[in-house]
Amino acid sequence: MSHEGEESGKETKVKKAGSSKTRTQKLPGQGFAPFLDGVFERYHRPERLGSDPLEFVYRSSRPFEQEAIALIAAQLAYGNVVQIRKSIEDFLGRVMRSESGRLELWVRSLGHPPGLKRAAQDLQGFVHRFHQGKDVLLLFRLLERSWREHGSLGAHFIRGLTQSDVDITHALDSLLSDWKAWAAELDLEVARSRSFGHFLSAPAQGSCCKRWCMFLRWMGRKDRVDPGLWTAGSALAQRFPDGKALQAHQLVIPLDTHTGRISRYLGLTSRKNLGWAAALEVTAALRLSSQEDPVRYDFALARLGILDLCQKRFRVEICQECQLQPVCIFARSEMGQSPRSQTPPVRRIRGRSS
Ligand code: SF4
Repeated sequence: MSHEGEESGKETKVKKAGSSKTRTQKLPGQGFAPFLDGVFERYHRPERLGSDPLEFVYRSSRPFEQEAIALIAAQLAYGNVVQIRKSIEDFLGRVMRSESGRLELWVRSLGHPPGLKRAAQDLQGFVHRFHQGKDVLLLFRLLERSWREHGSLGAHFIRGLTQSDVDITHALDSLLSDWKAWAAELDLEVARSRSFGHFLSAPAQGSCCKRWCMFLRWMGRKDRVDPGLWTAGSALAQRFPDGKALQAHQLVIPLDTHTGRISRYLGLTSRKNLGWAAALEVTAALRLSSQEDPVRYDFALARLGILDLCQKRFRVEICQECQLQPVCIFARSEMGQSPRSQTPPVRRIRGRSS
């Protein structure tokens, strides 16, 4: 119905087709800042890191080690939390026991045949759900090449990023396109496998790229939770071309089963397919609460799902205490309250209890 829109302060003026009259309409997420900030203050805390693979990045203070740990921790972050932690521990333990003894040296050794052969042995028998040691080995060969040719993975990524880019879509597609081409050169059989392809799913394919967006949040935000390894002033960013760095406002939310579900409850998206378009839509809605740092809410929102604080069914004792309840369409409809949002109602979920 609305064909023209002009954002003005907290509301958007829309003009109906064929009419000179305008009316105001709230955008999804408008006015949510007090509620989202409440959840942020409560859950965006270092003491919550034990429930997140980001914790592993803090096991080292060396920037290259951190970049490498972040890559594997993010890429293995699918499935249940216990298994994810076990697999990351398994990988890091194998590297610690290897001849290199340190992750940075282990990665750099992959550029030479003897090191590559030893690393393949180090990873023999490694399994994380449908990923095997050979997938992880190729992933780290790509990291090694980025380090060798660009100075760091961050420098490689930043080459595809313009400071005026609204978000990281182009830079991520560009990096993954390079990595796909390199992977085919290094090991065509593994590169063509479905399991390895799962590591490199890109925005251009419509994927929500949850694991890459999470990795980039760790790189592009710096505070008491996120390490900001590619932000201006960081050790790695000092080597980036033309003084560029990753800026928090360019990040896209890592949309997963938890943040996707809660985003629907809040009316930030009504899409069934939680792909790249949905991730951009939710990010745009979060910008209305934090223009410069929309993804700041991700860690806290994900805690609601990961810690089972927001369940897949209505629980009055939980929802009454939830800071998002005033803007949660799902809970408000269950509590017989009219939704505050103008967005379409979310799909009802079966099996709820009161
Ligand atoms: S009000 Fe209830 S359903 Fe809504 S986000 Fe909070 S816990 Fe989840």
